[in-house]
Amino acid sequence: MAALIKRDPELDRIRWIDNVPFWGVHVAAAVGLALVGFSWLGVALCVGSYAIRMFGITGGYHRYFSHRAYKTSRAGQLVLALLGVIATQKGPLWWAAHHRNHHKYSDQPEDIHSPRQRGFWWSHMFWILVERHKRADLSKVKDLTRYPELVFIDRFEILFTVAYAVVLYLAAGPIGLVYGYFLSTVILWHGTFTINSLSHVWGKRRYQTTDDSRNNWVLAIITGGEGWHNNHHHYQRAARQGFFWWEIDTTYYVIKVAQALRLVWDVHDVPRHVRDGVEAPGRARLGESGDDEPAERLAA
Ligand SMILES: [Zn+2]
Ligand SMILES: [Zn+2]
Repeated sequence: MAALIKRDPELDRIRWIDNVPFWGVHVAAAVGLALVGFSWLGVALCVGSYAIRMFGITGGYHRYFSHRAYKTSRAGQLVLALLGVIATQKGPLWWAAHHRNHHKYSDQPEDIHSPRQRGFWWSHMFWILVERHKRADLSKVKDLTRYPELVFIDRFEILFTVAYAVVLYLAAGPIGLVYGYFLSTVILWHGTFTINSLSHVWGKRRYQTTDDSRNNWVLAIITGGEGWHNNHHHYQRAARQGFFWWEIDTTYYVIKVAQALRLVWDVHDVPRHVRDGVEAPGRARLGESGDDEPAERLAA
């Protein structure tokens, strides 16, 4: 077990200078919109850029890198890392390492972003902005650090995101930059962050997991299916988070199409007895293995 996280004014200090780009993207979106005005092309670029990168986070960083819920080729893995890194949420190793910690200690004192432990805004975004979480504990992602291309992307993540913004500018000028990057990124950030904040306080609990995770269809729509967060905490190994046909999960639909095209395989479904049961096998899998890597990976 990791030691209980002790509050520390230095480690929990918000790094205002380091985080100027974070606030700067918000300001650039607002000022940029005022300067370029309304544009339907801009709206289309904003939505398209959001959808592609949200999949990079949900289908890539979350379901593939953090949970290994399906398999793909090394080239496929690289594409997922690139789609994720342009979402400007740091690199795949940083993201997966912190996320595995969240599942291991969900809503316990060791959880790095729990609204129960440290309040809503901490879980929503302040945890990202403090000294303590600047770097990831790479011992939690040993299954990923053996790929040099992933280590490279993780280390130089800012270059990829800047390149993405430049491409949007070259393709569509100021409209491309303001709508396709700045505005889209702000919405994408806060859309993603709701899964750490709102998904632990707002919605229904189908399963009596040991955390406060909830299912919420509104959050599921804006996050490509991640709003079925109580389902996910109940059984984190599944590539699907909507466990029933009426639980819309667009990330899962994309994965299924990729599977039909043989781009991905071994797509892990939720077993019927788990779906219809009340115990939470997902959390036990990580906790009992004595390691933070997904159990199936360790056995390989
Ligand atoms: Zn959670
Ligand atoms: Zn997860």
